[in-house]
Amino acid sequence: DGSAKVIDGKMVAKQITEEVASEVSRMKAAIGVVPGLAVVLVGDRKDSATYVRKKKKACESVGINSFDVHLPADSPEDEVIKFISGFNDDPSVHGILVQLPLPPHMDEENVLNAVSIEKDVDGFHPVNIGRLAMRGREPLFVPCTPKGCIELLHRYGVQIKGKKAVVIGRSNIVGMPAALLLQREDATVSIVHSRTKNPEAITKQADIVISAVGQPNMVKGSWIKPGAVVIDVGINPVEDAKSRRGYRLVGDVCYEEASKVASAITPVPGGVGPMTIAMLLSNTLSSAKRANNFGNH
Ligand code: NDP
Repeated sequence: DGSAKVIDGKMVAKQITEEVASEVSRMKAAIGVVPGLAVVLVGDRKDSATYVRKKKKACESVGINSFDVHLPADSPEDEVIKFISGFNDDPSVHGILVQLPLPPHMDEENVLNAVSIEKDVDGFHPVNIGRLAMRGREPLFVPCTPKGCIELLHRYGVQIKGKKAVVIGRSNIVGMPAALLLQREDATVSIVHSRTKNPEAITKQADIVISAVGQPNMVKGSWIKPGAVVIDVGINPVEDAKSRRGYRLVGDVCYEEASKVASAITPVPGGVGPMTIAMLLSNTLSSAKRANNFGNH
């Protein structure tokens, strides 16, 4: 009817957070174990510091312990790996998260490889990504942002099996794992990236679009097939003199246009963003359950 249903990520994230909180207290009461998340931050990027603060606050709100290390930007790589090893050996830590991006002098692969796959709540360890890609294998953890996208589709009753899905973007943290997850759910998946010719025509074939590009309003209403479901991962600042901070956040998708064509769409903010943190809490809880053989992790 020309007006898409709004997929309310904020509300779903709140539900999931409450579910996690009640499981955390159930586990504590039953076996005396409190899940713990270790967060490693290197350097002084403001955005990274904000994300870390939000994650710690979210942990507190559900009763998960958080442990954090903040190292200076010029720390040697071994120093970071030493802290990770300490957390790997610490039974009160069930999840280890290294806030990305790392400073340029560090080898991201070396650092992420150091995280035990049993505590890799971000799902970025190559073994977890490899298992995600392979048929008949199960990753211990799935990256939080793409997992949040799929969770939104599930909770809104969007059928994935047999559908044509297009993922715009192929980053290691969002686009690539989102495409792998959709494929595991039996969608037929195409990936659009910066070298793709005619991205509009390819995107227009999709019943489900997940966009993770980082370009404000790139995906126009004309790119969207009527009735498609649109998940917009992009969080992009654009200048806005009327806003107190001088900018506001918009997605990759031109919401005004796309919401007239799609059957359902996530807003920015309030769509995928809150889901990422909810999935992190949920992964940390599952890890603690698995480590203690508690319930159906
Ligand atoms: P990256 O910059 O790592 O990746 C962007 C991807 O988009 C690349 O694969 C790139 O292609 C592709 N791309 C860039 N320009 C175009 C274009 N013009 N046409 C088609 N494809 C293009 O970004 P991330 O994946 O880390 O993040 C994407 C967005 O999602 C950002 O806005 C970010 O802020 C947001 N984000 C939100 C999160 C949340 O909701 N919690 C979490 C993480 C990210 P190529 O590979 O060819 O370079």
